[in-house]
Amino acid sequence: MIFIEKEIQTAAYLFASILFILSLGGLSSQESAKRSVFYGIVGMGIAILATVLGKGVEGHIYIIGAISAAAIIGTLLARKVEMTSMPQLVAILHSFVGLAAVLVGYGSYLDPAAHKLSSSEHTIHLVEVFIGVFIGAITFTGSIVAWGKLEGKIMSKPLLYPGRHAVNIVLLLTSIVLGVMFAGAEGTNGMIYLYIMTAIAGFIGVMLVMAIGGADMPVVVSMLNSYSGWAASAAGFMLGNDLLIVTGALVGSSGAILSIIMCEAMNRSFFSVILGGFGAVTSSGEAAVMEGEVTSLTHEEVADLLKEAKSIVIVPGYGMAVAKAQYPIYDMVKTLQKAGKKVRFAIHPVAGRLPGHMNVLLAEAHVPYDIVLEMDEINPDLPDTDVVMVIGANDVVNPGAQDDPSSPIYGMPVIEAWKAEKVIIMKRSMSVGYAGVENPLFYKPNAEMLYGDAKDSVEKILGFLKA
Ligand code: NDP
Repeated sequence: MIFIEKEIQTAAYLFASILFILSLGGLSSQESAKRSVFYGIVGMGIAILATVLGKGVEGHIYIIGAISAAAIIGTLLARKVEMTSMPQLVAILHSFVGLAAVLVGYGSYLDPAAHKLSSSEHTIHLVEVFIGVFIGAITFTGSIVAWGKLEGKIMSKPLLYPGRHAVNIVLLLTSIVLGVMFAGAEGTNGMIYLYIMTAIAGFIGVMLVMAIGGADMPVVVSMLNSYSGWAASAAGFMLGNDLLIVTGALVGSSGAILSIIMCEAMNRSFFSVILGGFGAVTSSGEAAVMEGEVTSLTHEEVADLLKEAKSIVIVPGYGMAVAKAQYPIYDMVKTLQKAGKKVRFAIHPVAGRLPGHMNVLLAEAHVPYDIVLEMDEINPDLPDTDVVMVIGANDVVNPGAQDDPSSPIYGMPVIEAWKAEKVIIMKRSMSVGYAGVENPLFYKPNAEMLYGDAKDSVEKILGFLKA
């Protein structure tokens, strides 16, 4: 077996870290996103090689076997998973990082070499192990609950029981006491304290995410991404691996920045979300009574409305992703543009099921970026818009977020579709969106429903436009 010198390994780690930074930086724009994924893959390849070929590494046959099996499972999963199920996949992958940190913590505590360290080094090592296992266990169980909520296996409503913050604080203090006992234990006798703390941290992880409502899940997913980064970083400290420390810190801090950006976009308090809904305004639970009548149009009537309109804004949502309607939508846009109409897209920061979901789908259909506008850019133009077509979106155009304090999404900024001259809502039924709330937009006098699958409806409208 060929082994590489420590200096070469350090240089390889440094190079891999630079590639990871370039990768993260490039993900901020759609044009450079593909290239940055490539940087990430190359960086990870170098990191794995440099680690496996490092001096002192044994059992290569097992490592190669494990990596090959994981690569096959990963490739099959990534090929099979629908774009709409991506957040669930991300959540479950975070849980693996959390579990890995817990197992690395146990292994590193039981490693006989660790007990030969000097007294102060040994104490620092024990602190690393304890904190790493704590963050790992929270990430592990929290991510599983997030997966369950996104997959619809666990109710998306927040689970808020009286005194839960007091319970969480008591559990946190108990963990600190356990940490002191763990640090004072002889040899590997502290294992029992580590096990008890793991169970407590696992419970905290479950309760933190259970307390978050469906509409705030995007922030939770990016926050767990951040936690998984810190868990990896903690594992890096335990293993004395610089690259893992740097990579974990990169993931941890970028996830935290993304969470803050999303909290600002959704008008939520960052601390409230990371502390499991602490201080969140809980809705009265009494659903507002819908006033008005729901009316609907035919595909031909919608095509006639579009023919008369001068300015049109399309608001895509999760239903567009499910129906894979982005391709016929862009065909429709081109037809309307040829007829001299001004057509633009309005993107809500949490439309769909993962940050940037709609932008990726529209880019896939080659929609030019200059007609894709963010919510804040388009909202002031909506009162002067003739027709807003809401395609498979629901929560992101719910006026209750502005004027119904009893709504779970109250305070979240929304696309003000109702301010346009006419609003057409294209969905299959009157059923609710992800947050599980009724939408008063459907009852507004200037709103009309167009029932049916989004792709099918757009194709029919296109047929009438071309006729
Ligand atoms: P919503 O989930 O609010 O609504 C989607 C609508 O699409 C549904 O009401 C459904 O109605 C309709 N629909 C489903 N399938 C089809 C189809 N084939 N054709 C036509 N319509 C269809 O989506 P939004 O995009 O408006 O809002 C996103 C929600 O998801 C927010 O609550 C957000 O907080 C949450 N979320 C977002 C994440 C993110 O990062 N972006 C992550 C996790 C959650 P019907 O059944 O009647 O057709």
